[in-house]
Amino acid sequence: MLLDVRDLHVEFRTRDGVAHAVNGVNFAVDAGETLAVLGESGSGKSVTAQAVMGILDVPPGRITAGRILFRGQDLLKLREQERRRVRGAGIAMIFQDALSALNPVLSVGDQLGEMFVVHRGMSRKDARARAVDLMDRVRIPAAAQRVRDYPHQFSGGMRQRIMIAMALSLEPALIIADEPTTALDVTVQAQVMELLAELQREYRMGLILITHDLGVVADVADRIAVMYAGKIVESAPVRDLYKAPAHPYTRGLLDSVPRLDRKGQELYAIKGLPPNLMRVPPGCSFHPRCPMAQDVCRTDEPPLYPVSDGRGSACHFWRECLHGPDH
Ligand code: SF4
Ligand code: MG
Repeated sequence: MLLDVRDLHVEFRTRDGVAHAVNGVNFAVDAGETLAVLGESGSGKSVTAQAVMGILDVPPGRITAGRILFRGQDLLKLREQERRRVRGAGIAMIFQDALSALNPVLSVGDQLGEMFVVHRGMSRKDARARAVDLMDRVRIPAAAQRVRDYPHQFSGGMRQRIMIAMALSLEPALIIADEPTTALDVTVQAQVMELLAELQREYRMGLILITHDLGVVADVADRIAVMYAGKIVESAPVRDLYKAPAHPYTRGLLDSVPRLDRKGQELYAIKGLPPNLMRVPPGCSFHPRCPMAQDVCRTDEPPLYPVSDGRGSACHFWRECLHGPDH
């Protein structure tokens, strides 16, 4: 297993109390596999990614328990320097906002080249050539000329391709992409997502795709982990989940995505808002918003029930949901 995260807990200490942002999360990603982590904002999906990347080790965020095994090595047990080395060689991240992630006063060629100069000890000239190669790989037209341009001279979609090129530069085993296409318009979104999926297959990387948009991941993910209030509430192969969700929250998310086969039908919206992570409701944290909630849901927290091979649901009534009528 490439990445195996076990029982991860992350909390944030604020003046108003402790927010349990990630609360016992388990997931794994293999080489060549794409895992989508899906959830509304505040569900803990980005915090989970940041914990894996090691960019959370600053207050007020704190990993309070769990293991992050990368190629069998627990990153949380390594010394800081060693940890950075292991991650640096093996895990890369793509952020939503390329414009703020890229350096505005350096040409993209210099930024891409820098990776090879610093990490591979290449000469400037060789590094520049590699930068052009990479820009070609992510299909930036006229790469040999555009390598001298600055980030602001590219469109949003092209800038995101440059981010992907940066992430690929050191040939990581795992890429974590946090809402990589959210800032782009729909057609460009699809192109960038396709490119990412294609490169992932070609390089046989593991890919973790963090998104709030179920529509974006349908065609590219192998598995989906749905997060709610800091927990994974459903985890399933993507096809199974699309065919029939085993958790009412997943069902709500599915029904709120526009679908061609349901054209004209009104889109469903899950009522209410995700909970404040300092005051998560008792029992099932989704119960105030759940159309299927029963008394037991208000008192007993559902474990992740095994639904079938490789599939789990944290709903007491997963059977009813799986086979049940709409809402
Ligand atoms: Fe809804 Fe109850 Fe299932 Fe929670 S456990 S998702 S409240 S039916
Ligand atoms: Mg986020």
